[in-house]
Amino acid sequence: MTPMFIPGPVDVPEEVLAAQLKPMLPHRSAEFEALFQSAVQKAKHLFATQDSVFLTASSGTGWQEACVRNLAQERVLSCVNGAFGMRWYEVALANGKCADKLETPWNQPISPDQLFEALRNPSAGKPYELVTIVHNETSTGLTNPIEALSAAVHEASPETLICVDAVSSLGGVRIEKDRWGVDVVFSSSQKCLALPPGLALAAVSSRALEYAQHVPQRGWYFDLVRLEQHLRKDSTPATPPMPLIYALDVQLDRILSEGLERRFARHQAMAERVHSWAPTLGFELFAPPGYRSPTLTTLVNTPKIEVSRLNAYLKSQGMRIASGYGTLKNETLRIAHMGETQIEDLEQLFAAIEAYMREPR
Ligand SMILES: *Cc1c(COP(=O)(O)O)cnc(C)c1O
Repeated sequence: MTPMFIPGPVDVPEEVLAAQLKPMLPHRSAEFEALFQSAVQKAKHLFATQDSVFLTASSGTGWQEACVRNLAQERVLSCVNGAFGMRWYEVALANGKCADKLETPWNQPISPDQLFEALRNPSAGKPYELVTIVHNETSTGLTNPIEALSAAVHEASPETLICVDAVSSLGGVRIEKDRWGVDVVFSSSQKCLALPPGLALAAVSSRALEYAQHVPQRGWYFDLVRLEQHLRKDSTPATPPMPLIYALDVQLDRILSEGLERRFARHQAMAERVHSWAPTLGFELFAPPGYRSPTLTTLVNTPKIEVSRLNAYLKSQGMRIASGYGTLKNETLRIAHMGETQIEDLEQLFAAIEAYMREPR
């Protein structure tokens, strides 16, 4: 298998791909319900939660929408220090919410003190019902300090619900939903979980589920109240993406048998390897020390290489990396080290990048 160092979709192990080929089942059947329950129970370990875990046929962005539709009648505060935080703010506006942005420079984490102040002094004097925070900004390779941010919200505005996008961290970095005291954490299948795209996972607190009951026009497909009613019967309101749930069940067995702590340590070790290697070629790291993502590293393109030409060369070697995201497209390069990527794969990538830089072709 030729490794892809892009932040999703990532390479999927053969055994997991093959699991999708099992015959379909009626989704309202005891057999399917047993599979669904098995996958949901295992998934709870990834979130370290006792809360309800939902599986939906959508990518992760579906849950950005689910959060703002179900958990705010009006007032949303969106923390923005990257493109996915910005997307969530735009999703809130597109759903007719009155959203404010708490934006910091994109190479800096969201500050708990600033969040505290923003909640204490809301615009128009009206408290925020919901705060949205991205855990691991895939556009910049920066991890926000969720535990400290959650503590700031609880102190400044205890009623405000906290939703966390963990799309590029769940399964790659330790997440402790219950201990952190956040209401929703969600992710997609195609990043750290190394599954094909098309499935989202979300853990939701009972406080959030109760809140949703009183929110009018929260939609149908992602109505949390309806999802919860079906979850109690090990099922979903609409037809579930069965091949992906077969794959998830197998992949969760593989992940849990690797061991979560070992898996997280593998990602951290790969991140540190990139951090020590990059400066040897003159690249600087975009995110500041203490906030660098374990699952993806953004390099500042200090040597001014042409990323598209580098990638054309890497492709000829069966590999690929990502250019910068959005406004950072040409100024940065992104190397993902998530999913099943191993340190030996990275060494192979480094050798290829070094060869290219010695003699650009
Ligand atoms: C990839 C990504 C998304 C978008 O996820 P989709 O599954 O493509 O909808 C959202 N947030 C973050 C942090 C991401 O990395």
